[in-house]
Amino acid sequence: MSLPEGLPMFPGTASATGQGATLGVMGGGQLGRMFVHAAQRLGYFTAVLDPDPQSPAGQVSHHHIQTGYSDAAGLAQLATLCGAVTTEFENVPADALKALAARIPVAPGAAAVAIAQDRVQEKSHFTATADEAGSQPGALAGVTCAPYAVIETTAQLQAVPAQLLPGILKTARMGYDGKGQVRVKDAAALAAAWADLKQVPCVLEKMLPLKAECSVIVARGWDGQMVSFAPQFNVHVDGILAVTAAYAGNMPPALAERASAATRAIAEHVGYVGVLCVEFFLIDDGSADGALVVNEMAPRPHNSGHYTIDACDVSQFDLQVHAMAGLPLPQPRQHSPAIMLNLLGDVWFDAQGRARTPDWQAVLALPGAHLHLYGKTEARRGRKMGHLNITAADVATVKATARRAAQILGLPGLEAL
Ligand code: ATP
Ligand code: MG
Repeated sequence: MSLPEGLPMFPGTASATGQGATLGVMGGGQLGRMFVHAAQRLGYFTAVLDPDPQSPAGQVSHHHIQTGYSDAAGLAQLATLCGAVTTEFENVPADALKALAARIPVAPGAAAVAIAQDRVQEKSHFTATADEAGSQPGALAGVTCAPYAVIETTAQLQAVPAQLLPGILKTARMGYDGKGQVRVKDAAALAAAWADLKQVPCVLEKMLPLKAECSVIVARGWDGQMVSFAPQFNVHVDGILAVTAAYAGNMPPALAERASAATRAIAEHVGYVGVLCVEFFLIDDGSADGALVVNEMAPRPHNSGHYTIDACDVSQFDLQVHAMAGLPLPQPRQHSPAIMLNLLGDVWFDAQGRARTPDWQAVLALPGAHLHLYGKTEARRGRKMGHLNITAADVATVKATARRAAQILGLPGLEAL
């Protein structure tokens, strides 16, 4: 794939508006905010499309178009302002990306985002990638999806094989952070859960005995060049990412190698442009290292890659900017071991449920603690309010500092490291 027309678009190049080149993002959440920061550091102007006047990215962007994601006037304004557009959440309407792509380069493209939006399509894509990679030794070797069944009709519900239970019923679309998921132990619970979910299209996945979870982030350019970060080891609590550990030895090297190869194959197969994250489960299959199961992909930078801002010479957001704008994609180098602790709204409440301000004084006094808050005014339980990156010269120190920070803030998840 060659550079689309209009690229390369270096900062300072006059755009249609007469100002420096502008990069746009669909969605104004924290991922958009960190994208805006990275783009602005390179001298780009930025435009965010998000209906929320208080959105984290809208607050810090040069332009904030406050319309719905399918609003024709809003999309036209974004296309006029920008030299290229990216997205920061997977539920942006694929049709909106198509409309933009008719006018300007959009990365990732609508087709890749559409796959990631729908668990049924996503699983077919993984399976198709595995089939294609079959001829390339090692490409997706040993990496499969969790056993699953599609449930769109009552007949499909009734035909669910018993070996998929206990399982997790997941809505095919619009799920995130464990939302739209119900754990079901038997057929009766499954039927009740599907009714509760208003019988929208779903996927039932077998509940797997997870040993651990990990993810891989790659960036692929318009020319097909790809770079990647080393796999991250992730700890989830209540279906939400709590901790990411990124350092040598965070997982068995053979598994890390397989997860990386599978992620590259998945990106390659869809002709992906931009930053892509693929999530994996590590399960116990009786072998020494365990086996890898591919869970889902995110067509954007990912929560498990936030450590790259402080621990790598090039962050996942830098690579997002580079990829969409047709700039070179340097292989990132991690210079410090790192642990990321997610800061959910829960931290803003004490054990009795009373509102409190977390003890930032104590946290910021820790050497190697990098606090990132997203500018969200209202703390709610389970809401991602910020994250804390811990870096240090060695793994023992990074773990000790992370434990201290977790103790100060009352954060869960570090026991798993
Ligand atoms: P996000 O978008 O935040 O990653 P999500 O809502 O899309 O989350 P999943 O990634 O599918 O949801 O699942 C969330 C978590 O639930 C997983 O990280 C894992 O801890 C657990 N989980 C999901 N599927 C299974 C499974 N089949 N077996 C065991 N645990 C699972
Ligand atoms: Mg997930």
